[in-house]
Amino acid sequence: MSTATTKLERPHEPTLFEQGSPGRRGFRLPPLDVPTIDLARAIGPEHLRNEPPDLPELAESEVVRHFSRLAELNHHVDRAIYPLGSCTMKYNPAVNEEAASLPGFTDLHPEADARHAQGSIALLYHLGRHLAEISGMDAVSLQPPAGASGELAGMLVVRAYHADRGRQRRKVIVPDSAHGTNPASVRLAGYEAVEIVSNAQGRVDVDELRRVVDGDTAAIMITNPNTLGVFETRIREIVDIVHEAGGLVYLDGANLNASLGIVRPGDAGCDLMHMNLHKTFSTPHGGGGPGSGPLGVKEHLADYLPFPVAARDESKAVGFEYYFDYERPRSIGRVHTAYGNFLVAVKAYAYILTLGPEGLRRVAENAILNANYLQALLEPFYDLPYAGRCQHEFVLAATRQKAGTGVRALDIAKRLLDHGLHAPTIYFPLIVKEALMIEPTETESRASLDRFAAVMKEIAREAIEEPAVVTGAPTATPVGRLDESRAAKELDVVWENG
Ligand SMILES: *Cc1c(COP(=O)(O)O)cnc(C)c1O
Repeated sequence: MSTATTKLERPHEPTLFEQGSPGRRGFRLPPLDVPTIDLARAIGPEHLRNEPPDLPELAESEVVRHFSRLAELNHHVDRAIYPLGSCTMKYNPAVNEEAASLPGFTDLHPEADARHAQGSIALLYHLGRHLAEISGMDAVSLQPPAGASGELAGMLVVRAYHADRGRQRRKVIVPDSAHGTNPASVRLAGYEAVEIVSNAQGRVDVDELRRVVDGDTAAIMITNPNTLGVFETRIREIVDIVHEAGGLVYLDGANLNASLGIVRPGDAGCDLMHMNLHKTFSTPHGGGGPGSGPLGVKEHLADYLPFPVAARDESKAVGFEYYFDYERPRSIGRVHTAYGNFLVAVKAYAYILTLGPEGLRRVAENAILNANYLQALLEPFYDLPYAGRCQHEFVLAATRQKAGTGVRALDIAKRLLDHGLHAPTIYFPLIVKEALMIEPTETESRASLDRFAAVMKEIAREAIEEPAVVTGAPTATPVGRLDESRAAKELDVVWENG
């Protein structure tokens, strides 16, 4: 066989419809041992089909194998590094899943009487206390089911706070490096998002901030470390400027991986913030599956938190120690059913208790160390628009490659897939052209970082010597480049192989 003519076979998994054939069965019902009834009479003929549904027919083993093969095609963090910046795709200890699977948690009804749910309410209460301790906030609501939801709840708290003081403020300031959910939450809460540009170091331009802040400023929404992986060293000044104008400081704490045990936003003077349990506190995410974006606030905003809040009465005046506090007349109301995604809270609680204060601090130290190590390995081969030490992530730019041979960040991301690695976040933050935003996380070993760097170096070489290989990637995946905008607009995309 001549290697010149060898073409990589794309893995191909036929659909269940293609694999099935009439008569195959996964399960047989036992013979009926109760009287039959006439279905048309029972539910009405209009609810009956004329034709049986066109479902694939397969044996159970065929279905299981189909999904196992699909799962192998899928990239996940249990398989290899997943360096998606701003997302913290770190390894999630399996013991947390075990804790969240305990029947006492999974079988509990959300409307169970507090008397019968003491352990679960205690867990929510103490998780809230731990998160308050970690973030430097005073009170926490675990109800928001995602970071974006925590942001919106936070902006509604800002509104309620100003409304109580008879103020009609209209503006919320958002730096241009912010996550897209920030301006979206600001708008949803009825505010105008005012963008301020970052300076050459990738930080908030404090002089520009002074010019923009005025009596119409309800809040600033700031991220620290910001999405460039840069720490806002002038955070105290930023807080003072906004406070002097009567505004509040909202901190986007979606990603606390670089802060745990080292800095607390509350100590820097921030008034409220959200945290992402599905990023920092080890709940698997990425498939859209349940998350949690607790909202933490300082004492002066505690009354506005969504209700109910898990509370404790050590005197047991109501007959038991832990209860849900619904008596919150100034609350912004509910932002989710029940108490949020409870099992995500269980995992975060198990994670925090397993690591303890020392362990959490080591998470942050190793996240920062790993990111700086990887940045140093990659710096010779890609541009680094914001040079210097990074926090938990850093942003490279494929500008050199684009100017040289036309290879873009998207091509590099696609080429990584041929090596069985996940791509970094690309084209974000928006202020970096051809951005490759990399967050290795603390759970990658040095060998894993070295391997990723070696592949990135090889792709940088290919970009110069054989750019068609990079622009033609991926070839080792079931499909090549997809029309992503069509996939989003026409959900019913026809399968076309190749
Ligand atoms: C992920 C993220 C968010 C949004 O969190 P979701 O849970 O995806 O809604 C907000 N800000 C930053 C900086 C993030 O990384």
